[in-house]
Amino acid sequence: MKIIEIRTTPLLAPYIKPYHWAQGVIQGATVILVEVHTDEGVTGYGESVGTPSAEAVQAYIRLAGDGCIGRSPFDNARLMADANHALFQALGTCSSPRFAGMVLAGLEMALWDVMGKATGRTAHELLGGAVRDEIQYFGFPQGETAGEIAAGAKELAESGCEVIYVKVGRGDALDVAIAEQVRDAIGPEKRLRMDPNEHWNPVKASRMIRKMCEFDVEFIEQPTNSESITALAQVRANSPIAIAADQLVFTPYDTFNVCREKAADLIVLGLHETGGLLRFSKSAHIAEAAGINICIHGLYETGITTCASNQVAATVPNLDDGNQYMNHFLEWDIVKTPDLALRNGKLPVLDGPGLGFELDWDAVGRAGELHEKQVTDNE
Ligand SMILES: [Mg+2]
Repeated sequence: MKIIEIRTTPLLAPYIKPYHWAQGVIQGATVILVEVHTDEGVTGYGESVGTPSAEAVQAYIRLAGDGCIGRSPFDNARLMADANHALFQALGTCSSPRFAGMVLAGLEMALWDVMGKATGRTAHELLGGAVRDEIQYFGFPQGETAGEIAAGAKELAESGCEVIYVKVGRGDALDVAIAEQVRDAIGPEKRLRMDPNEHWNPVKASRMIRKMCEFDVEFIEQPTNSESITALAQVRANSPIAIAADQLVFTPYDTFNVCREKAADLIVLGLHETGGLLRFSKSAHIAEAAGINICIHGLYETGITTCASNQVAATVPNLDDGNQYMNHFLEWDIVKTPDLALRNGKLPVLDGPGLGFELDWDAVGRAGELHEKQVTDNE
C-alpha cells in the first residue's frame, strides 16, 4: 500500500460560548483536517491544531505530506522522523520539537486511521491492545464569572463526573472566588483540580497554593512558566497540594526529564504535544517507569482528537482517571459517529476500524466555510 495524496483543509468549529483561560478568550476550535489517501482506496483522517496560524500550520503539513507520497502508511515512525528532521530540525540547523508535535499530530493520526482501516483493526489493537474497557474524563465547566463556572461545575458533578477541573490564573480575587464557589457547588466529595496555565511564578504559586488548601484542591496544573522544569520542581518541593506538569512536556525526552527532576506528581499529555499516538505511547511508558500517571490533555480540537486520544489512552496502564474532554464546548462536532457524549463522566474504549469515527461531511463543509469567512473578515 502506498500513500498517493495528502489533503489538508482548515476548519473552524465554533464553541457554544467563549472559552476563558489564563492565556485569553477563544471562540472556537481552529483545526487542519488531514486526509491520507492511498492507492488501495483506503483513506485515513486526522487533525492538527491550527494555532497560531492555520495557513502556516497547513503549509508545514503539506511539506511533511510531500515526503510521504509513494511510501507505505505502515512506515509511521520513519515517516514522522523524516518529516521532523527535514522541517523541525531544519536538517540539523535548528530544533523545534514542540511545534513539530503540534503540526505533525494530524498526519500521524491519519496514518493510524489508514493502518486500522487497512487491517480491519482498531488503533488500540495495533498499539498492543486495550488494558481497560472505558475511559473516565473530568468535568470541565467554563464561564466568565465564578458564578457561571460554579453553576456548570454543579451540573457536571451531578451528571456523574467524579473530578472537576477549572481554569484559574485569571487574577487572585477571581481565582479564589472560583475555588470557593465551585467547591461549594460540587460538595466535599468530588475531586477539584485547577489550572493557572503558567500564570503563577514560584512566589505567587506559593501564596495562591496556601489559599487553595482551604478548598481541598487535588492538584494544581502547570502553575509556572513552561520553559522551566526547575521552577515547577521548586513549587512542588514546597507545595502541600500535588503538582501536575502540562506545557513543559511534549516529547519523550521532556517526560524523562520531568520524572528525573521529580518536578510533578502527574503529567498532562496530548496528541498535539507529542505529535501523535506513537510518541504519546512512548512518553506514557517512560512515566510509567517512574510511577507517574498520564492525564489526556485537550486543546482546541474536534471529536477526531477525542477518538484518537481514546484509542491510545486505552493502551496506557498508567492512565489517570480524570482526563480532559473538550467536545461539550463545541456548538456542533464534525464527527458523525460514534456518539461522544459522556455518560457518568465516561466513554467506552472506541471500536474501530482505525480511530473509530465517521466524519459528518456537511459539518466539515460548514466548518470550512466558517474558517474562510474568518480569514476574509480579518483581511
Ligand atoms: Mg493545562
